[in-house]
Amino acid sequence: MQIGLALAAVLAIQDVAIIDVIEGKTLPRRTVVMKEGRISAITTGKPPQGAQVVNGSGKFLIPGLWDMHIHLRGGAESIKANDAMLNLYLAHGVTGVREMGGDIADTVFQWRDAIDDGKKLGPKIFTSGPKLDGGKPSWPGSLTVTGPEQGVAAVGQLVAKKADLVKLYFDTLDEATLKAITAAAHKQKLKVAGHLPRNLTVRDSIEAGIDEVQHAYYYLLAGASVAEGSVSREFGERAASGKPMTTEEWARRLLDDYSQAQAQAMVAMLAKNEVWVTPTLDAGNISIGVGAQPYGRDLRARFVPKGIYESWDPNKGRRRPPSDSFRKIRGEMNQRAVGLVRLLRDGGVALLAGSDSGHSNNNIYPGWSLHEEMSLLRDAGLSNAEALRTATINAAEFFKATKRHGSIDKGKAADLVLLDADPLVDIRNTQRINGVVRDGRWLDRQALDQLMIDAGRN
Ligand SMILES: [Zn+2]
Repeated sequence: MQIGLALAAVLAIQDVAIIDVIEGKTLPRRTVVMKEGRISAITTGKPPQGAQVVNGSGKFLIPGLWDMHIHLRGGAESIKANDAMLNLYLAHGVTGVREMGGDIADTVFQWRDAIDDGKKLGPKIFTSGPKLDGGKPSWPGSLTVTGPEQGVAAVGQLVAKKADLVKLYFDTLDEATLKAITAAAHKQKLKVAGHLPRNLTVRDSIEAGIDEVQHAYYYLLAGASVAEGSVSREFGERAASGKPMTTEEWARRLLDDYSQAQAQAMVAMLAKNEVWVTPTLDAGNISIGVGAQPYGRDLRARFVPKGIYESWDPNKGRRRPPSDSFRKIRGEMNQRAVGLVRLLRDGGVALLAGSDSGHSNNNIYPGWSLHEEMSLLRDAGLSNAEALRTATINAAEFFKATKRHGSIDKGKAADLVLLDADPLVDIRNTQRINGVVRDGRWLDRQALDQLMIDAGRN
């Protein structure tokens, strides 16, 4: 079966309970009418004559979900596998993804545009294009930046490609270059997200204009420690002298001097400066899971395109099993991150759900992982409604795209997920997917299953 681009003139989901993610409440017995990829009406009446009708009785309708941190990468030989992987997101109700940098950026830009133009079925893509990194980039495909002028030039290259944000991946960076990058990006209305340079304090990065922090277990750990100043200074000095501090030592020293008061002060600073955070809790297991989780035995493996799945092989992939001591310390970092999420939520910091799924990110099953992330955020202290917001309205707000995305309202994109159970009762009910609407196209359970099977054939 081929999942095509055919589009009914009018699609309606009848007698369904709409989840209002903003208010965290349910609007029962509504009919949602969609035309030309948009929601054209929400009524309590019958669907219009001639519409393709889906019976929503006893079911719940949520906005299409966003995974705000994924990667499309792995070199030219992985392009087909990455393309197939996009199906896994759709099949899990993830109708939008934010791609956070890789080495097939030109292809990703083409996919983004083809999907937007209705020429290709897939989740809506926002992408950073290539990451910005230092002299010795960690990942292939990154743009190298070693000073302010290069930083401005790199942002210029991203703007020319119509990137949707700037992703930083510097382990160390001087403040002048960071400021030059953020100023150039902000002039073009692009947000700057990423890893925070570890030679700077969290305050330094915020003052230099960073808009968003990824990975709570790394880059917020420093700001929650009274050792932050001395550790970051030494991290920079040792990197410059060619005797770099290991991540294990860095984390050990920060964890040993963790302070709740310091953490709260950092949270207040993030909130005041409207800095977003994508905790990526589900990805906390990427490195410690390698070699610990049996490769090849997960039932989901058969749906993951081979070119992606093989990159997770602990014997062949980029990530190898870590030492016992690193496994232990990463576990502690993950634990701290869970506590930080609670503080961030209480402190009013805007949170995004991102799973970090993709090539070379072992055992983070694309599609499934976004639901796992929402569950972990709920377990960390968010309500079910708040967890749902991190993958819907918050994502739209981040991109200033609330006119078209993030909630179920007239005029917004016809990107929806029909559930068999109420996610406001239990966020895990987002996994009980009956069907997905993508750009006005109805994909029933059978079509979604087929998308997964097709993904696994690649
Ligand atoms: Zn990532």
